[in-house]
Amino acid sequence: MFSNFNDHSLFLRAFEKSPIGMALLSFDGNFLKANPSLCKMLGYNDRELINLGVSFGTHPEDLEADLELWRKLGQGEMDGYQLEKRYIHKSGMIIWGHLSVTVERNLQGINGNDIFIFQIVDITEQKKKEEEYKKIEELHKLISEHSQDVILRLTPDGIISYISPASRNQLGYEPDELIGKHAYDYWHPEDLNGGWLRNGNSNNAESRIFVYRLRHKNGHYIWQEAHSKKIRNNAGEVQHVISMGRDITERVHSEELIRRSEKLSLVGELAAGIAHEIRNPLTSLRGFMQMYLKEDMDGSKKLRNDVMISEIDRINEIVSELLVLAKPSNEVYELRDVVHILTHVTRLFEGQANLYNVLIKKELDANLPFIHCQSSINQVFINVLKNAIESMPQGGEVIVQAKQMYDKIVIRINDTGFGIPQDEITKIGNPFFTTKETGTGLGLMVSMKIIQNHRGTMRIESEVGKGTMVEVVLPIVKQKNSINLSASLE
Ligand code: ADP
Ligand code: MG
Repeated sequence: MFSNFNDHSLFLRAFEKSPIGMALLSFDGNFLKANPSLCKMLGYNDRELINLGVSFGTHPEDLEADLELWRKLGQGEMDGYQLEKRYIHKSGMIIWGHLSVTVERNLQGINGNDIFIFQIVDITEQKKKEEEYKKIEELHKLISEHSQDVILRLTPDGIISYISPASRNQLGYEPDELIGKHAYDYWHPEDLNGGWLRNGNSNNAESRIFVYRLRHKNGHYIWQEAHSKKIRNNAGEVQHVISMGRDITERVHSEELIRRSEKLSLVGELAAGIAHEIRNPLTSLRGFMQMYLKEDMDGSKKLRNDVMISEIDRINEIVSELLVLAKPSNEVYELRDVVHILTHVTRLFEGQANLYNVLIKKELDANLPFIHCQSSINQVFINVLKNAIESMPQGGEVIVQAKQMYDKIVIRINDTGFGIPQDEITKIGNPFFTTKETGTGLGLMVSMKIIQNHRGTMRIESEVGKGTMVEVVLPIVKQKNSINLSASLE
């Protein structure tokens, strides 16, 4: 092994001083010599280690792998191996070591036997760090996989390279369906100018908040608020963008409702004022028109007069709807039976329903509690039912349902009519929005206003070609309260 004395002593010095744990083992796997670094690493002195077996100090779980390699080495199948394994320090502490074993075959001077050289680097610290990284990584994964927000990683060109499973709930897509796609393909076209990645160079903001619409797999759009951050490498280049997106559709909708109800009360006041002024002159105009009709003995002006009368009637209809808005909200509230109201209203439409081949079905729960309401509540069901019947010129079915849910009464009017397209549904309830030739576009606005006065809610669901469902939810006044009230009055 050593060609002369100098080499020998040099080797010994290196062996003694090496920061790496080193040992020589005999052909039968016993320690012949261990250096101070190894002794320190394992907590034994060299005398304690001498003549101990090759697997001494090895963690039981790593023993098998180690011995298997050792066996192959002994049988000459290889001339060395490397292994990361755990040792148990004399104190019981676990040490991670990177072990390299090499063999010197048939070494002269040691009876012509093989000799094994062990080098063990202590990698405990490194392993600890790896474990910590792994834990952090697992934590990140856990957060990302379970977050309600969609967590997204984009390449600088806007290609999705990672997306968390929340995409399933928010957008209807499995993550796999979106990876590799361009994020902008899912943005609403009108929101694209708010894009940031497109002109990434001209805009230096490192993190930004976007609000935009994203297309759900079903085709409708959701509102998302996304916090995005550019991640750079050491050279400062953009490597990717991380974004966390929250579904704020509900919030946007309720803001829209608030805006609309503010607009509604303003329009309502104005319209009601005007309506009042128009009503009286209209009445006299109609009166005179009827006189003209009578005077037209030979009927030569009948057509003209009829048109004028029907036009006046139409103006009158619009004005009456507007006047509902003017009804002071201090109109008396009375305890009334919803079943009674709905039965009454549906009866009003029997004629029209028959004419258009529409079947009206009632599914009204028995024993519904009474609700506190104004007589204007009838107007709501009249307007909704009228719309339902008008949506089925070729006939169909209306189902009127009423049931109690906790402290509320839920009334639904379902039709099998032509439905409302997605882009129109948001316009419904805006004053004068109508798709009908002779519509006023006031019916639902007025209804919403009335429901609002009753502290209720109104909701419309619709599918083109299938039908529409209008849901009205009204609060029930608890019986207990009214008893308390009358008790306190006595
Ligand atoms: P109008 O009935 O005078 O048009 P409304 O305010 O009652 O005014 O309704 C506004 C619009 O909403 C209607 O023109 C119609 O496009 C739509 N709409 C309302 N209810 C329905 C329904 N049940 N089915 C289809 N469309 C409806
Ligand atoms: Mg209507």
